Amino acid sequence: MGNSAQFRKLSSMSKEIYLDGNATTCVLPAAIDAAVQAMRECYGNPSSTHATGLKAKAMMDTVRQRAKRLLGVGGGRIMFNSGATEGIQTAVLSALCALRERRANGEATGSLLVYGATEHKAVPEALAHWNRLLGLHLELTKLPVGSDGRHDLDALRALAPRAAFVCTMAANNETGVVSDLAGIAAALEGSPALWMVDCVQGLGKLTLDLGNTRIDYAPFSGHKLYAPKGIGMLYVREGAPYTPLVMGGGQEAGLRSGTENMAGIAALGAVLAALEQGGTFRSPAELHGFREQLAASLRAALPGIVFNAPFETALPTTLNFSVPGVSSKELLDVFDAASVRVSAGSACSAAKAAPSYVLDAMGLPTWRSSSAVRMSFGPLVSADTIAEACARIVRCGQALRDAGLLDTPTAGAAVPEGVLQLSLGGNHTWLLLDAAARQCIVIDHQAELGERIDSLLRSHGYQLAARLSTRDGQAWPAAGDSLAFGQHTLRRVALDGSQAAYLLCKGEQVEYAFTGLAPLAGLAGKVPADALLCTGREALNACCTSLRAEAQPVAASAEMNLDSITLARLLESYPQAVLVDVREAYEQAACIPGGRTAQSVPLSRLAGFVPRWLDAAEQPPLVFFCRSGNRSAKAAHCLRRLGYRNAYHLSGGIALAAPALALAA
Ligand code: PLP
Repeated sequence: MGNSAQFRKLSSMSKEIYLDGNATTCVLPAAIDAAVQAMRECYGNPSSTHATGLKAKAMMDTVRQRAKRLLGVGGGRIMFNSGATEGIQTAVLSALCALRERRANGEATGSLLVYGATEHKAVPEALAHWNRLLGLHLELTKLPVGSDGRHDLDALRALAPRAAFVCTMAANNETGVVSDLAGIAAALEGSPALWMVDCVQGLGKLTLDLGNTRIDYAPFSGHKLYAPKGIGMLYVREGAPYTPLVMGGGQEAGLRSGTENMAGIAALGAVLAALEQGGTFRSPAELHGFREQLAASLRAALPGIVFNAPFETALPTTLNFSVPGVSSKELLDVFDAASVRVSAGSACSAAKAAPSYVLDAMGLPTWRSSSAVRMSFGPLVSADTIAEACARIVRCGQALRDAGLLDTPTAGAAVPEGVLQLSLGGNHTWLLLDAAARQCIVIDHQAELGERIDSLLRSHGYQLAARLSTRDGQAWPAAGDSLAFGQHTLRRVALDGSQAAYLLCKGEQVEYAFTGLAPLAGLAGKVPADALLCTGREALNACCTSLRAEAQPVAASAEMNLDSITLARLLESYPQAVLVDVREAYEQAACIPGGRTAQSVPLSRLAGFVPRWLDAAEQPPLVFFCRSGNRSAKAAHCLRRLGYRNAYHLSGGIALAAPALALAA
């Protein structure tokens, strides 16, 4: 049972659309110029008293004054540091040291360290760390948020009298939800608590008049708004307690030692100047318009999409959404294939997405919090970029639809056939697809894949012929030990315990054996040595193998890894070499065709193709590639184990070696 071979031109799309501004941004050209100028001409140490040092100090003072004006700090301080994580540590250390001192003086301090449930991890981690290190034993208390992502002000009012330190954020990095800082301040009225507001995502997007609030500490990171990484600022209210995190040469008026990052400060200064002078960044109205455009394209392309935060109370530059039946990894992969960079709204592990604690805290159902995607852009974005992003979103939607992921009828899309592997959480489910009869058999169904399988079958008009399990004897639909399936027969073989294997045979030849969790060593005598073994678990085998291959295992060797240089050499020496794209069909379809020709064999279909490669008279070099090099390594290793010595893969994937394939990353 095989799949028909398809060759297609690879992507020649050139321009990357970067929609991950909440993670970081590119650097403003004026900021690059300012950094270069600081390194070339204004390279003095601002602590030196000679003219070169004085020049550097003057530049630094200018940037500080600008920051003070922009943030309305009044009598408060702005000090430069390495970024928000350092700013958060400094604020936490300062607050906790002050609490320790007040306690030692017998003053009432409150006993709770309160932090918003959707804070960036740096906040609770820093609180726990310094609380432990300083031996304070204060109680860490999560402040809940409502379904709109905003802090529960009633809960805060109830906690306020016992709160020692309160940490909230100006805007959330995953959802863009803007906090009600005035409401928080009102809830804290009369409380002795110190207050930190993480302003990282607010810089340049919210009006912050810090000196007119009771906020004690506000950390910032330059790289979230077109300055380089490694430069940040901390606002400290006039009179707020302060303990330096770093002691040394007494820089920053003794509050943060270490020679200042002058190139970073100069670059940040250029960004602040652009903010202050206007004309560089888009207006709020334009940004709202861009969000509407993106949301309209997403709605049209991805039926059933839900946005995970209300637009009315979120930054216009962040869209967080989930699509029923499509994982965040699949969405990320399809967008990446279209050169649209977005990020998972949740922490993605290799196999399964962990739910987002931010969306969990908002009480969203698990399917939404574990499949969320964040699309975010900075205020420098152009109308052309948004228009191009919208066009690519439409293309991605079509690619997902054609692959049967969106449970909508597909017109003219290739019908999946043969042996299909679906993996989730380290377990494999196998689908046998008989395209002529539109019949499907599912082996070792996983409940979490139910929706995916149903939608795949519905989209392509397949009927479910049987659902079989290798783990118990149930649900065998045929009398006797064999079941006719198109031109094949499926035979059941009892294994040890209550386990079974299913053998897919053409005539007398066993082509495939689906063996579930059975240890491979126990299959000898029950499964022919050359049948392709499709196991039920990644730990047993990632794709497919055979008993003969397992008897003389071939370790993954460095020789199979190609980089762009060794790939170019191989392609020159062996013009007959075949490039094999193992990305999924929807990723391949999302690319704009052009460049080199490659055979399309998604990793999920690899088992269906293996016999053809192994049986061919000629065995040209096969060079597998994918987005990051992960899936292609599995494919090359699988082929080598099965005796195909000429199998290679592109390490680092398209992401690192795109030019070698005449591709854009
Ligand atoms: N706080 C928020 C809201 C953030 O988004 C980030 C970065 O993602 C941080 C803090 C930490 O910033 P940095 O990694 O620049 O120190």
